[in-house]
Amino acid sequence: MEKPEKLIVDGKRLDGRAPDELRPLKIEVGILERANGSAYVELGANKVLAAVYGPREMHPRHHQQPDTAVLRCRYNMAPFSVEERKRPGPDRRSVEISKVTREALEQVVFLKLYPRSVIDVFIEVLQADAGTRTAGITAAAVALADAGVPMRDIVSSIAVGKVDGTIVLDLTNDEDQWGTTDMPIAMVPRKKLITLLQMDGHFTGEEFKQALDLAFKGCEQIYDAQRQALREKYAIKRGNKK
Ligand code: ADP
Repeated sequence: MEKPEKLIVDGKRLDGRAPDELRPLKIEVGILERANGSAYVELGANKVLAAVYGPREMHPRHHQQPDTAVLRCRYNMAPFSVEERKRPGPDRRSVEISKVTREALEQVVFLKLYPRSVIDVFIEVLQADAGTRTAGITAAAVALADAGVPMRDIVSSIAVGKVDGTIVLDLTNDEDQWGTTDMPIAMVPRKKLITLLQMDGHFTGEEFKQALDLAFKGCEQIYDAQRQALREKYAIKRGNKK
């Protein structure tokens, strides 16, 4: 798309949202039979799948840590997930996103309970429209919970940014491309513990505070949706047993 003259008209964004509004969010839990835990997240046009395997014995063995489990994350974009076919396989971007995803999640996982083990987290982006790293972290946190991996709490993630001089929540690809700032964040909302903060672009000090505040509000909504999705799955299971 060509750069539009304005990205915000009469207080509304190109897709009709208010600056502080999330895109429609859908979370499904436990959709893969062979994974220990899994989740599917749609955030606007983003479609992201997360699968968790483990804790299980780490192979190759020389990667084992005697006193802790290792969280291994792989973020991958399907070739058909973006407008122009993406070359399959890892690239610099996916290696970076895999690393920050691990860092965003490992702070809440009780890894010391599983010495010499590995917990594998696979994130597959099926369709991308900006914010895939945050949607991936949101999905992975739910998949870890679905796998029964002991955690302090659930990590929630969203991007905030600046578009036409306005601080906005949850940027689309057009906003990411034509806006001035994109700041993906992950956190444990209840503790206000930030586990990921990246920034492409710049904010003034005041804008940064405003953006952080908006990110907290967005993550609280995501956190509620994550918990609701988990409750729905496990409520049904309990019902079936009767
Ligand atoms: P995030 O998806 O976390 O926002 P980026 O800021 O790197 O990560 O990417 C923003 C968006 O740019 C992606 O969600 C996707 O829509 C698009 N994008 C990323 N990589 C490619 C690519 N190789 N080809 C086409 N579009 C891409």
